[in-house]
Amino acid sequence: MRAVDLIAKKRDGGTHDAAEIRFLVDGFLDGRVAPEQMSAWCMAVVWRGLDDAEIDALCAAMVESGDVVDLASLGRTVVDKHSTGGVGDKVTLALAPLVAACGVPVAKMSGRGLGHTGGTLDKLEAIPGYRIAIPIPEFIELVRDVGCAVVAQTKQLVPADSKIYALRDITGTVSAPGLIATSVMSKKLASGAGAMVLDVKVGDGAFCRTVDEARELARLMHGLGDRAGRRVVCEITRMDAPLGRAVGNALEVAEAFDVLRGTAPADVTEVTRTSAIRLLTLAEPGLADDDAGTRVDEAIASGRALAAARRWVAAQGGDARAVDEPWEVMERAPVQHAVPAPRGGYVEEAGALAIGLAAVRLGAGRSRPGEAVDHAVGIVLAAKPGDAVEAGAPLATVHARDTASAWAAAADVAAAYRVGDTPVTVPDVLLETIA
Ligand code: URA
Repeated sequence: MRAVDLIAKKRDGGTHDAAEIRFLVDGFLDGRVAPEQMSAWCMAVVWRGLDDAEIDALCAAMVESGDVVDLASLGRTVVDKHSTGGVGDKVTLALAPLVAACGVPVAKMSGRGLGHTGGTLDKLEAIPGYRIAIPIPEFIELVRDVGCAVVAQTKQLVPADSKIYALRDITGTVSAPGLIATSVMSKKLASGAGAMVLDVKVGDGAFCRTVDEARELARLMHGLGDRAGRRVVCEITRMDAPLGRAVGNALEVAEAFDVLRGTAPADVTEVTRTSAIRLLTLAEPGLADDDAGTRVDEAIASGRALAAARRWVAAQGGDARAVDEPWEVMERAPVQHAVPAPRGGYVEEAGALAIGLAAVRLGAGRSRPGEAVDHAVGIVLAAKPGDAVEAGAPLATVHARDTASAWAAAADVAAAYRVGDTPVTVPDVLLETIA
C-alpha cells in the first residue's frame, strides 16, 4: 500500500476500506506516512468527507494506537462528558462534583484551550496545587474514593489523535465533521466511561456555525458511541455569546463553583443541571428525569455538591478554599477596567468569538501551542444578550495584567457588543437533545 495512492483515491472521491485507514493511521505513527502526506489526506477528507464505515475504521485505528483505560474494576457505570468547545464554558468544573454528589462516578480526561476556546486544564491550573498529570491507576483510585477525577489526557491515550490534530491545527483541516467526530470519540472511548453527555456547541464561538452542522456532528459522535456499546446523549447548545458571565481561567473557576451554590447565571446553571440529569439517567436506566432533577437540586440545596467539590479539589492536590473563598487563593488581575455601553437600549449581541479572542489577547489563552497562560486575566460580562442597559453603564469588566492590554481588550469587547432599541427575546441555551 502507498500513501500517495490513498491520498489520490480520497481526492477523487473514493472510499477507503478498514485496512487502508489502518495503514494511514499506523503508518503516520511509525513514519511510513510522512506528515505532508497525512496533511494532504486530511485536506482530501475536508473536501470529500468520510462515510460511516470509514469513520468507524478511523476511530478504531485511533483508539487502538494507544492505551485504553479499563474502569471495569469500579463495578459501576462511570460517566464522562465532552464539550466541543466554547467561550466561558466552565461546565465540567461544576458538573463533575455535582454528579459525584448524586452518587454517580465521573472520570474525565480534559484538554487545554484551543484557539479562542478555553480549556478545562488551564482553568483547573488556576487553583494553586491542583495536579492534572495523574497516572491512570491513581486516576481510577480517585474516581473510586472521591467520586470524580478530572485529569490531563495521558500521552499514551490516543497518540494518533495528538499527532494528527497537531497537523490539522496548522493545515486548515480541523473543520471536517468526520475528523472532529473521530478525534473526540477516540479519546472518549479510550478513557473508558460507559455513558457520556456530548455538548455540541453551535454559534460564532463554536466549530459548528449552524444547527445543521451541529446535528451532523452529533449524529456522527452518537453513532460511534452506540456502535462501541456506550450510552450517549448529545445536547446541542448555543455558543453565540459566552456561557455565564466569566471568561478567563480563575474567573471561570469561581463562577463554576457558584453553580454549586445556586448563585451562577441562568444559562451556565441550566447547561450544568440538564447535563447532570442526563448523566444520572444514563447511569441508572429507569430513573425518571424528574427524579434525577430532584436529586440534582437537592445536592445543590443541601451543600453536598459543594462538599464534593472541596473533596475533589483537595484529592487532586488543590487548595480547596478555591471552592468557597476563591479570591483568597487565586490571583486577581491587577487592572480592572469597565467597558461602558455606548448608548442605552437592549443588548442584541455579545459575540462569543470576539470576546474569546479578546480574552486570548489578554493572555488567558494561547497564540502558539505550549505558551503559558495567565490565569488571572479575563472578562466578566455585566450585560448579556436580552439585558437592558443605560448609556455609560458597564457592559463588561476587563481583568488585565496592565493598563495597555486592558485598553486594547476593552476596545475589542466594546466591538463585540451590539445594543439596539427594541427588547430582545433570547432563545433557550439548550436547543436540542439527541438521546
Ligand atoms: N476537539 C477535539 O478534540 N478534536 C477536534 O477535532 C476538534 C475539537
